Amino acid sequence: MKRIALVTLGWSLAKPPEELEKDKIHVAEILRQIEMEDRFDPDKNYYNLDLEVGSKALEILMEELRATPDLGYVSRIDHRYTRQELEAAELLLWRLTNQAIEDDYYDLHVDGYQGGPNASHKRCPTCRAELEQIRDLVVNKALMRGKDISLTYSFEIILSERMARLFQEQGLTGFDLRPVHHYKKPYKGEPTLYQLVVTNVLPPMASPPTEFERILHCDVCGITSQYLKHTHWWGKLQYREETDMYYSRYVLERVKDFNHSAEYFGELAVSNPYVIISQRVYRLLREHKVKNWKAVPAYLVD
Ligand SMILES: [Zn+2]
Repeated sequence: MKRIALVTLGWSLAKPPEELEKDKIHVAEILRQIEMEDRFDPDKNYYNLDLEVGSKALEILMEELRATPDLGYVSRIDHRYTRQELEAAELLLWRLTNQAIEDDYYDLHVDGYQGGPNASHKRCPTCRAELEQIRDLVVNKALMRGKDISLTYSFEIILSERMARLFQEQGLTGFDLRPVHHYKKPYKGEPTLYQLVVTNVLPPMASPPTEFERILHCDVCGITSQYLKHTHWWGKLQYREETDMYYSRYVLERVKDFNHSAEYFGELAVSNPYVIISQRVYRLLREHKVKNWKAVPAYLVD
């Protein structure tokens, strides 16, 4: 795994001309020091740089930013995995990277977020967390535009017919399929879509070493939601880096191809468990060149 720092470097256009000119020269000088002088453009006042943690270039850059914090900041540190690392992981966090499909039509347009009579879910009257899905989703299917998978705004997973069939034919476990309906009368070429409903729930993550932050709780419905720890400090500079997830090795006895984490994540009104997939699902998605997702290893501890 490589840790890549995403650093923004640049000068403020709000400064008086002579200071701005000085900052510009300073930025050019920093870029030269980290051997990125070819990126410099006097008309471009900010640069997004990807630098590996532990590299000489990042060390130089951070030294400069400590002395002159006006010139930039680290926005976050990303974890990048090699193919071998991903193929060695028995469990992976599955992250869908598109939200092409809007929410259920009646939730979005007819007060469904308050749990009204047409809502797709029963919701907590206080925190609005989804407590139970009470009918099939009704969406604008045209937005899927030939994609294989998409999240809705509320993080429901929508599958194309090809995907649903593939998962069934391969005998994958830990999920049900629910039909998805179009919000208006049927149209020519309307795709058949399904909602992937993950049914298997894993035991809680091993914590420590998994770390959480911003733990939220609603006393009315009893739901607890949180975030993986991601706030860190580099001297006085705050940056974002997500903590890895760990499970006790014994979860392998309980694991299916699709799994929900026991934990819920995010703000209460939109909190959802994470979807944890098996290595088998990971390979199948790659093999079939499915787009719009990524996977992060979830580690096992003894
Ligand atoms: Zn609640």
